Amino acid sequence: MVHAESVRKAFGSHEVLKGIDLTVQPREVVCLIGPSGSGKTTLLRCMNRLEKFDSGRICVDGDYVGYRLRDDGRLQEVAESAICKQRSSIGMVFQRFNLFPHMTALENIVKGPVGVLGRNRKEVTAEARTLLERVGLADKADAYPNSLSGGQQQRVAIARALCMRPKLMLFDEPTSALDPELVGEVLEVIHALADDGVTMVIVTHEIGFARDVADQVVFMDGGVVVERGTPEEILEHPQHVRTQRFLASVL
Ligand code: ATP
Repeated sequence: MVHAESVRKAFGSHEVLKGIDLTVQPREVVCLIGPSGSGKTTLLRCMNRLEKFDSGRICVDGDYVGYRLRDDGRLQEVAESAICKQRSSIGMVFQRFNLFPHMTALENIVKGPVGVLGRNRKEVTAEARTLLERVGLADKADAYPNSLSGGQQQRVAIARALCMRPKLMLFDEPTSALDPELVGEVLEVIHALADDGVTMVIVTHEIGFARDVADQVVFMDGGVVVERGTPEEILEHPQHVRTQRFLASVL
């Protein structure tokens, strides 16, 4: 589903990604962990071209992010409109929920599929109600974001991303802006998506959650992938001293 090869990205002279390789199989859940500043969020943002990478390639479901494959086998940059189209097939959930404050939960969810994908409003509205039910918020369709808790807003944001029928879901520390008592309800929803076979890449500081939900855990430090493997391999038996030190500091 995702195949990233030698991805590099610098901000000025600061090289944040130093040649990242990453493969995500369909229906797989990959958790990216690592210390602050290791490049996890930047990698995630490169995957849907919110961030332009300097070199390397990222292929999502056969499409090269930001590029098209020419007949001669070379990659050619595509226009912003084509990037927007690629981006619409990749769902992203941010730390902050970024809901439109002047729209109800239901309107927030319906906006993208109707406005961006041009789908039928009635059909999308029915789907949005089903998604609200799926995230446990069937009774909040007409609520405005400021009347919802952070956990509820994040669940609306997840429903909104899912309503675009993405091939891939990206989560950037989806619980880090939440009060501790609201974390569980959001992780439960993500867990259910994993059980349903949604392909996901999740940047998280919740190591216990990564252990439960991930098929693959990737530990990053200093812009490189230090090691990767099953949750048991990486979280119980890390081989690299950097991973061991990081886990000792967070567990
Ligand atoms: P955290 O866990 O704290 O979110 P992270 O592993 O996700 O950290 P990134 O957010 O990817 O790390 O940031 C990696 C480095 O890149 C940091 O040093 C950060 O300051 C820098 N960085 C990120 N975005 C920008 C930007 N737009 N301009 C300049 N520097 C940036």
